[in-house]
Amino acid sequence: MQSINPLNGEIIRNYTNHTIEEVTNKVEAAHLAFQQWRITSFENRSKLLVQLANVLRKRKDELAVLMANEMGKPVAQGIAEVEKCASCCEYYAENGPDFLNDQLIKTEAQKSYVSFQPIGVVLAIMPWNFPFWQVFRFLCPAFMAGNTAVLKHASNVPGCALVIEELINEAGFPNDIFHTLLIDSKEVDKVIEHPFISAVTLTGSTEAGKKVAAKAGSLIKKTVLELGGSDAYLVLKDADVKKAAETCVTSRLINSGQSCIAAKRFIVVKEIAEEFIGHFKSIMEHKKIGNPLENGIDIGPLARIDLRDQLHQQVQKAIANGAKCILGGEIPKMDGAFYTPTILTEITAENPAFYEEFFGPVAQIYVVNDEDEAIKIANSTSFGLGGAVFSQDSKRAEHIANNELEAGSCFVNAFVKSDPRLPFGGIKESGYGRELGLFGIHEFVNIKTVYIS
Ligand code: NAP
Repeated sequence: MQSINPLNGEIIRNYTNHTIEEVTNKVEAAHLAFQQWRITSFENRSKLLVQLANVLRKRKDELAVLMANEMGKPVAQGIAEVEKCASCCEYYAENGPDFLNDQLIKTEAQKSYVSFQPIGVVLAIMPWNFPFWQVFRFLCPAFMAGNTAVLKHASNVPGCALVIEELINEAGFPNDIFHTLLIDSKEVDKVIEHPFISAVTLTGSTEAGKKVAAKAGSLIKKTVLELGGSDAYLVLKDADVKKAAETCVTSRLINSGQSCIAAKRFIVVKEIAEEFIGHFKSIMEHKKIGNPLENGIDIGPLARIDLRDQLHQQVQKAIANGAKCILGGEIPKMDGAFYTPTILTEITAENPAFYEEFFGPVAQIYVVNDEDEAIKIANSTSFGLGGAVFSQDSKRAEHIANNELEAGSCFVNAFVKSDPRLPFGGIKESGYGRELGLFGIHEFVNIKTVYIS
């Protein structure tokens, strides 16, 4: 395994993959650690999570540089990501005990209630795009609930994967409560098969989700899947068009366009289309591309050269099928995995781009006759992760967000973001299950009924 700097193609470091024996030992150690961890007090777990938050904050600059080097995230965004992980630790430290308290349910029994028991070692399979956040949003509730974990991180961020284990140890958690497995995705099935793996969570592509869920399903092991998205943002005729355009661009370019919940399709009604496109284009073309270690950079290199090339091919295919490119659409003349902010319009339902996720700084703009057509296009996708509606009639927008859009998170006059307090996840091919909030902590527990006659 290698980490390669997408800014210049330099090999940062070579890593030796763990052998099957090493992986087995780590899974077994995590299982042994679980026997002790499951009986620790909430107070103890909360204290350790707060210490983990402190370690993250103390090391945030160094961790942001590591992300910039391994996958190109601009440092300011990396620091914000580490801060968010710290706040997730604190959120579950504070609220976890309440979420996990027994719930009394009145029946004819002397006493009947629901308790939330930990289930064991959970295997987490995670992507590179938010190399810390994706892991922590699973890990904080898992630890709080009394589970232990092993992580198979994306192959291009082994440095991040190993440092997460280091942070957990530095915070004072018991030995073996968490292990990083440096393995290829081909080895994952064997890990799922290990009898000590109780459940699997995967954040990544729909394709990987299908394979992992099929394997885990064949062994009756629960999965949570956080998969791809092609979020639609609807801009209605009474929207504050300039503000909407600013918010839409911000969302589209989060993490240099490589976010599952980045807005990817902008569906604007014809009355305000010209004005919206004008603002949108002007904001996109003024974004600063460059070295992610420098201050003031909006867009770093994409995570890998092959991913950048794949994105460019998608853009070219979209154009060959009739889309109009009104900005970008080219690889800039500079070293590194950079891609120019791009806008595609006039995409028809016959164009493959209509159905695909574009994982980079490429926006699709659709002009429609009215709200009904906007909703129809928004839902004409196999994905269902997030969506947003922009209108000054917030009641009307709320109705569309709540009742009409087929997605797991729908926002009004704001871009979709994850927040430790709110459940997060998708429907359709964007996955199932929820992370974060109350619902997230209940995914990997035995929701046990206890009945005393
Ligand atoms: P990916 O290729 O699916 O990789 C994600 C993780 O799954 C990596 O650790 C990868 O390991 C592993 N993996 C891939 N194929 C596998 C298989 N057949 N069996 C077991 N493990 C496998 O996804 P990506 O390209 O890194 O990330 C981009 C995708 O993730 C996008 O579709 C994006 O929308 C989605 N995503 C979703 C969310 C969400 O919360 N819903 C968040 C972030 C990203 P290797 O690196 O070793 O291949």
